[in-house]
Amino acid sequence: MADAYKVIDHAYDAVVVGAGGSGLRATMGLAEQGLKTACITKVFPTRSHTVAAQGGIAAALGNMGPDHWTWHMYDTVKGSDWLGDQDAIEYLCREAPAAVYELEHYGVPFSRTPDGRIYQRAFGGMTQNMGEGPPAQRTCAAADRTGHAMLHALYQQSLKHDADFFIEYFAIDLIMVNGECRGVVALCMEDGSIHRFRAHAVVLATGGYGRAYFSATSAHTSTGDGGGMVLRAGLPLQDMEFVQFHPTGIYGAGVLITEGARGEGGYLTNSAGERFMERYAPSAKDLASRDVVSRSMAQEIREGRGVGKEGDHIYLHLDHIDPKILAERLPGISETARIFAGVDVTRQPIPVVPTVHYNMGGIPTNYWGEVVTLKDGDPDTVVPGLYAVGEAACVSVHGANRLGSNSLIDLVVFGRAAAKRIGATVAPMTPLPPLPKDAADFAIARLDALRHAKGGSPTAQVRLAMQKTMQANCGVFRTTEVLDEGCRKIDAVYQQMADIGISDRSLVFNTDLIEALELDNMIGQAVVTMHSAANRKESRGAHMHEDHPHRDDENWMKHTVAWFRDGRVTLDYRPVHTRTLTDEVAYIKPKARVY
Ligand SMILES: Cc1cc2nc3c(=O)[nH]c(=O)nc-3n(C[C@H](O)[C@H](O)[C@H](O)COP(=O)(O)OP(=O)(O)OC[C@H]3O[C@@H](n4cnc5c(N)ncnc54)[C@H](O)[C@@H]3O)c2cc1C
Repeated sequence: MADAYKVIDHAYDAVVVGAGGSGLRATMGLAEQGLKTACITKVFPTRSHTVAAQGGIAAALGNMGPDHWTWHMYDTVKGSDWLGDQDAIEYLCREAPAAVYELEHYGVPFSRTPDGRIYQRAFGGMTQNMGEGPPAQRTCAAADRTGHAMLHALYQQSLKHDADFFIEYFAIDLIMVNGECRGVVALCMEDGSIHRFRAHAVVLATGGYGRAYFSATSAHTSTGDGGGMVLRAGLPLQDMEFVQFHPTGIYGAGVLITEGARGEGGYLTNSAGERFMERYAPSAKDLASRDVVSRSMAQEIREGRGVGKEGDHIYLHLDHIDPKILAERLPGISETARIFAGVDVTRQPIPVVPTVHYNMGGIPTNYWGEVVTLKDGDPDTVVPGLYAVGEAACVSVHGANRLGSNSLIDLVVFGRAAAKRIGATVAPMTPLPPLPKDAADFAIARLDALRHAKGGSPTAQVRLAMQKTMQANCGVFRTTEVLDEGCRKIDAVYQQMADIGISDRSLVFNTDLIEALELDNMIGQAVVTMHSAANRKESRGAHMHEDHPHRDDENWMKHTVAWFRDGRVTLDYRPVHTRTLTDEVAYIKPKARVY
């Protein structure tokens, strides 16, 4: 099989797949310890989705008022709706300040207080004194370009420590030998050559799979390739039913319109021109919490009061606001609406729809970034050689719902943790065991099958069917009926993969082939997400089930673990870690989550 393709071999101590915030932090940390490190990325590092993060990065530095890492821990546990693992959350919040100072020393140009310290702003759910006190200003910011600044600093640091970058290389599949990860197979998009990377450790840092939905704020490259590889390796994904929605993404484009637009007086209307939020949240109205607004919008659409040709979105009005105020306070939004929706916000409403913003679920790991699986009754069985970090992973620190600014800190804390763990277990230049001769065959066979697929369904058509199904049946409005129908529909979309057709047989810069590989990665995750959601008969965090509207700790305080083999989903559950890491903090007992 491999004979028909040009295969080039590489040997490294460690290979990182992904060059977003988490992948670069891991790459830098590995190279810094003298490990021979490769970073493979399908886009140029500074184009990774992390570049779009504006708001900032959470750490209890206490620069703007009293703060403590244990308060950050409390808020994160509560935000997770008690689905987060408390040992991992303790690690995250305890290590966060040091991780931010490290970024400062690497050259991230943080905004400053008048006395020269790192500026911190307030963010939702961040409080003082274990939820009892006023809001905490905990989110460190480099203006509204925090992610951009982080990526540039971490890329420069990785180059300084001589990490090797393989840019515009598309990782296809893991090399698994007897349950151990021994490397990864990638396609060089520029010349079509196949590259077999052998390594003692592979770190998946491939980001979220927001693009499995019709409307997502994330980049078009957020196709969850790492999750796809893990499912094909026969390993499970965790808590996939927990998908965070933001109420106002631009219809079609998905680009985010900040909550600040409603803060300045913007309001939502349905096809009857009605300000429907007055019915759902009589006092907070359009400024109710994100999940409430998103769910109300979905309800209007489902009941036939959506706007537009397909009646599938809602209008956001800013046209009643004085144009001078708009230009002053929302210049970015006015520009975004013009470019992505073609509307002049001083005269026309912006078409918006609840939009996928973040995946809490992903590849299960412990707080060292080691991938774990549930095996022979042990829920924490480590998969040798395989690590996952960033949005691709589920540590789980975000549980059922992530707090804003807690992702960027997760990227650097666990990117660093994985690098340290690998450094502690792999000595530089330790010889690699030989690979079986057919080690790349699985990856090449899959590539070859897709490349020569001659069915009647173009990639774009199958992808659209998947995205529309996920948006309609696994969105913010979930009932038993909607989810059961969703399972039937998404299984049918999966069947269509057998009839996919690729127009171009070339291996060089073949975007149709790359999109088919990405779709193949997304579809498994879409199926698993739908089935995981259908099986969880309670409401927790982002998973609001109308027929089971309350959190049920007795039966459901557990992580969903889902496998996808031969087109079939298998579900199991692992316990939430109720242990903390040290005796310094006690387990935070479940309470009602009210703000
Ligand atoms: C618009 C927006 C605003 C946000 N704002 C904030 C914020 O203010 N604060 C906050 O904490 N969080 C924010 N988030 C969330 C946060 O930015 C993301 O969760 C985080 O940046 C993800 O980083 P990552 O390292 O996991 O992956 P990404 O940055 O998504 O990078 C993925 C990397 O994997 C590579 N890759 C993927 N597949 C392959 C493959 N098959 N082969 C090779 N390479 C591959 C890509 O090339 C890329 O380098 C925001 C998210 C969005 C979408």
